[in-house]
Amino acid sequence: MVASHYNPSEEQKAIWIYLEQESGVLENVSLELLAKGRQMADQMEWRLIGLILGNKTGDLVEQAFTHGADEIRVADHPLLENYTIDAYARLVYQAILVAKPSVFLLGATPNGRDLAGRLAVRLRTGLNADCTGLRLEPESGVLVSEVSGFGGGVLALIEMRSHRPQMATVRPGVFEVSPPNYDPTGETIHIPIDLTEDMIHTRVVEKVSGEQVDLSRAALLVAGGRGVEGNFKLLGNLANLLDGEVGATRPPVDEGHIQRERQIGQTGVVCSPKVAICCGISGAFHFVVGVEKAETVIAINTDPAAPIFEFADYNVVGDVHEIVPALIEAIRERKNSSETNL
Ligand SMILES: Cc1cc2nc3c(=O)[nH]c(=O)nc-3n(C[C@H](O)[C@H](O)[C@H](O)COP(=O)(O)OP(=O)(O)OC[C@H]3O[C@@H](n4cnc5c(N)ncnc54)[C@H](O)[C@@H]3O)c2cc1C
Repeated sequence: MVASHYNPSEEQKAIWIYLEQESGVLENVSLELLAKGRQMADQMEWRLIGLILGNKTGDLVEQAFTHGADEIRVADHPLLENYTIDAYARLVYQAILVAKPSVFLLGATPNGRDLAGRLAVRLRTGLNADCTGLRLEPESGVLVSEVSGFGGGVLALIEMRSHRPQMATVRPGVFEVSPPNYDPTGETIHIPIDLTEDMIHTRVVEKVSGEQVDLSRAALLVAGGRGVEGNFKLLGNLANLLDGEVGATRPPVDEGHIQRERQIGQTGVVCSPKVAICCGISGAFHFVVGVEKAETVIAINTDPAAPIFEFADYNVVGDVHEIVPALIEAIRERKNSSETNL
């Protein structure tokens, strides 16, 4: 196995978090990682260091301190306005080789995944991708990353004993953001920037945003599966009445009935709503990992033996095309009568 550029005996006892920003706003997953990183750093008595790249990043640095970072390394330059793999990978690679952190964590966003893959190859280290849990072994400082996968209901715990940094990308929604209660000031170190335009082989011509929805923050979810037969309008009506959002399993997304941003599960979004209403969903492991943090799960399915019923708190055996309209009707009636009684 190829050795990494530095080994555990040379490591800086620190957890580095890549603080990803888009148009001057920190990604939520970066704040989630700061919260988890703070907890692990306190446990190990290590430093928690945030890494920010961008243009005019002053506000972000302050925000990162309020979320618990001990120190921020920042690269601020007009050529870093937009994420480009050439510029970002170059500077992060250099910063890591100088400081040699033990752990380096990134959000499993499209750009975070892109950057992490390139860096892991350059640093000759491993990458635990798309993790759903993290912990540090108190004695050895070895990072244990939880990864679900191998196409089935397997949870693997992965360790990297001899390679550094111990890199992982973590799925959005796995950890909770902590309140911004920390001191907004701290040590800021500027990373030397040796960028020129000809080093960057891609150019952002236009930014087109898809539907802006973040299911990981929804308090109520109405999720539909194959059993809904593409009738997401019906689920939308129920979600609207309850101030919730509509989500889906993978098949309706693959069939084009609903946008990919709304897919829940292992390869979708991990959600933690107060209530999840699962309609026409069998309850495959890949889906359930996306709603297992819900406080209450209600499942509607025609098959009394559907696996979702073993996981749900309330089971309704029946046809979604009958149950959901009846539910909508009952909620409307309840709302109307409470308005009349005012
Ligand atoms: C690597 C990998 C990653 C994956 N990632 C994800 C992921 O992130 N998210 C995800 O969801 N899936 C994912 N999958 C797919 C997953 O394994 C399941 O195939 C999928 O979740 C099943 O979706 P479903 O429950 O909608 O469909 P089905 O399993 O076909 O279930 C449909 C259910 O609807 C019920 N039904 C039918 N008609 C009605 C009706 N009229 N009223 C009420 N109930 C009815 C049926 O009884 C059945 O239980 C992944 C698979 C792999 C291999």
